[in-house]
Amino acid sequence: MKKPFDPSRVRPATRLVHGGTIRSEFGETSEALFLTQGHVYESAEQAEARFKGTDPGFIYARFSNPTVQMFEDRIALLEGAEAAKATATGMAAVNAAMFGQLSAGDHVVACKALFGSCRYIIETLLPRFGVQSTLVDGADLAQWEAAVRPNTKVFFLESPTNPTLEVYDIAAIVAIARKSGIKVTVDNVFATPMMQSPLALGADCVVYSTTKHIDGQGRCLGGVILGSKQFIQDNVYQYLRQTGPAMSPFNAWVVLKSLETLPLRVERQTASAAKIADALAELPGITKVIYPGRKDHPQYELAKRQMRGGSTLIAFEVEGGKAGAFRVANALNIIKISNNLGDSKSLITHPPTTTHDRFTPAEKLEMGITDGLLRLSVGLEDPDDLIEDLAQALKTLEWPADAKIVRI
Ligand SMILES: *Cc1c(COP(=O)(O)O)cnc(C)c1O
Repeated sequence: MKKPFDPSRVRPATRLVHGGTIRSEFGETSEALFLTQGHVYESAEQAEARFKGTDPGFIYARFSNPTVQMFEDRIALLEGAEAAKATATGMAAVNAAMFGQLSAGDHVVACKALFGSCRYIIETLLPRFGVQSTLVDGADLAQWEAAVRPNTKVFFLESPTNPTLEVYDIAAIVAIARKSGIKVTVDNVFATPMMQSPLALGADCVVYSTTKHIDGQGRCLGGVILGSKQFIQDNVYQYLRQTGPAMSPFNAWVVLKSLETLPLRVERQTASAAKIADALAELPGITKVIYPGRKDHPQYELAKRQMRGGSTLIAFEVEGGKAGAFRVANALNIIKISNNLGDSKSLITHPPTTTHDRFTPAEKLEMGITDGLLRLSVGLEDPDDLIEDLAQALKTLEWPADAKIVRI
C-alpha cells in the first residue's frame, strides 16, 4: 500500500487538487458526492461513541458530511487555517461568525464600507440582541483606536471594499485589536484566498462567500469560516451545529471541484483586470478608475504589501452620472449586467441603484459611491474582447441623449 502524501507539505496548487480527499472503498479518481443526510452505525455501541465524540465518524449532515469535510479540509489547507466550517451562504458564514462570538453587552467595531447585508447584521441586527456597534472609516486607524470600549470584543472588516475597492491595513488594525484582546474577523471575498491571507496578517477569523470566486462559475451559494481549531471550537462549531445553516453536500461537491481550478482562474482574471484597468484609464468618457493594482490607487503601496495581486474587480466612474452609467451598461454586449461578482462571465453593476440603493445620498457619497460609478467583475473572456466591448459602450456617451441602443 502506498503511503498517502502530506498535503500540508506541498505548494498551494497541489493542495487544491489533492488536499482533503477522502476515497471510498471504490477508489474513485474524482471526489465522491456523498448525498446523504446521515450514516448507519455498525452497533449501538458505535452510535454511542459517535455521539460521545470518542469515535470520529460522521453523524448527521447538519454538522458533518464527507463531501463537505473534503471541501473544508481543502480550503483550510489553502488558507493556512487549522480549521474550517462551511455554511449554506456567505451571509450564513458572516452571521455565524458574529453571533457565535458576541453576546448581549458586547461591542463590535466595523468599517462603514461593508457588503450591504454584512452592514445590516452589524448596524441593525446585532443591536436588537444587545450588542452595541460602531462603524468607522476603515482607512483611518485613529478611528479604530478611538472606537474601542472596555466591552469591545470584535473588529470586523473587508478589504478591498465593495464597491470602491478601498484597501485597509489589516496588520495595523490587528495591532490595535491585540492591545485590548479584541478578535479580528476579515471578510476576504474581494481579495480571494489567492491574493490575500488575513490569518497570516494576524486576523483570528476569515469568512468567504464561496458563491463568488470559489465557485467562480455562478452556480451555487455557499460560505466558509476559517480560523484556529480553538477559535472554531469556541465560537462557531456549536452555533452551526445547533442552528443549522449547513452547506449542502451537493454544493460542497461543486465548490470542492472548483478549488482545483481556483488559482488558474483568479490569476487569469487578475491579469485581465490589470490590463483592462489600464486600458479604461486611457478611454474617453471615464473620469476615474479605481484598481488596487494601479499606481494611482490611494492605497497602492499598502495593496502591494498586503495583497499578491490587484484583484479581479475594477470600479470606474463615467461622465454623465446615472444616465451615463446606464447608457454604458446598456450598450455592453459581452459584459452582462448583474449584481454578482467573481464569475467566469464578466459582470457589471451600478452600485448606487442596486447593491447600495438603500443608502441615503449622503451615506453613498461618504462611501465614495457616486452616480456615475460602475463596478466591473472581470471574467475569463479574452481581455482584448472585453476592452473592445467597453470602448464601444463608452462611445455611446458621445451620442445624443435620445439615441436608441439595440442590444445584441
Ligand atoms: C457576496 C458577499 C457576501 C455574501 O455572500 P452570499 O453567498 O451572497 O450570502 C458577503 N460579503 C461579501 C464581501 C460579498 O461579496
